[in-house]
Amino acid sequence: MSEASPQPEIRIDQLTGLRTILAGARADRPIDFEPATRDTSDEGGGAGREAEETPSNACAFCEGSESKTPPEVWADRPGGGPADSPGWRVRAVPNLYPALVADAEEAGGGVGGDAPPADPLLASARAGEPDLFSSAPAQGAHEVVISSPRHRTALAQLADDELAIAVAGWRERIAAHAESSSCVQLIVNEGGGAGASLEHSHAQLYALAFVPVLIARERERFTAYAQRTAGGELLADVAAEEVRRRERLVAIDDEAMLVCPWASGSPYQLRIIPRRAEARFELDGEVGVAALRTALRALRARFSGGPELNLWVRTAPRDADAFHWHIDIAPRLAFKAGFELATGVDINVMPPERAAEELRESLG
Ligand SMILES: [Zn+2]
Repeated sequence: MSEASPQPEIRIDQLTGLRTILAGARADRPIDFEPATRDTSDEGGGAGREAEETPSNACAFCEGSESKTPPEVWADRPGGGPADSPGWRVRAVPNLYPALVADAEEAGGGVGGDAPPADPLLASARAGEPDLFSSAPAQGAHEVVISSPRHRTALAQLADDELAIAVAGWRERIAAHAESSSCVQLIVNEGGGAGASLEHSHAQLYALAFVPVLIARERERFTAYAQRTAGGELLADVAAEEVRRRERLVAIDDEAMLVCPWASGSPYQLRIIPRRAEARFELDGEVGVAALRTALRALRARFSGGPELNLWVRTAPRDADAFHWHIDIAPRLAFKAGFELATGVDINVMPPERAAEELRESLG
């Protein structure tokens, strides 16, 4: 890739209607990991991620290395002080290799400006000839929210108060983008096998100008359930029943519960559900932090050093009449293989009831 890095671009698959973000510049980004040789720390108790507390020689996310990142857009800096200097607890910076950009230039062909690309089939109802190869600039924001000034490679390594501060930073940044976006997706990738390219613990925030299919589907199902049940709240009803049945319940506190979801798509998948239905994660105080701590502790006890994992925060997208935020955690223990890729249907060899039982036991 020696030519100039192209602007990220959104295209729609003509057959499925699903969007892809083409972000060619990301192929040039540096990586800490060597996934092929990496110990993925299964229950055999290998080196795990515990061993990686010393920074690789030039960690851009450690305190004191602020000049190695793009200028910060926000920081929790209780003692004050100038931007891009030490003294912060959580720090948000633009992703150096963004998949979304605020000032995207016209990518050519089809709809431009701020508008997402038109689905060629939907657009064809309005215009005569569908533009099967339309694309649009990948408009939005792509930030990194650094969890800690110290070189921690997993959320599980943060002290309780540090985790609370990191999660407060997630909420701060989601709130900052919520008004100007169709949807804000915050995720954490831990470990090279989970897609992380830098080991220093961080979240990534994607502020999108469209609502991705999975999120739109959830929004629609919350609304449909409310209509069908004369005002019922889908996830609150699921949660109440999970508490009653107990078999997939891992832990519960005053504010939130931790369950292995009924239709878990992968082994030891966990879901944090706030007990009081609130649509927006970013507006719900500190709810869920204790449950997140419990989830990380359970996984760490069950898998030596903690598994590589993906975590995502599901908060209400724009135009959600009914919604209930939640956090999903998927330990990276199984691959999505041909059938899963072909159909979108997961085959999970670990029943959530058994996973929940093991995780309950691991909490002691
Ligand atoms: Zn670091």
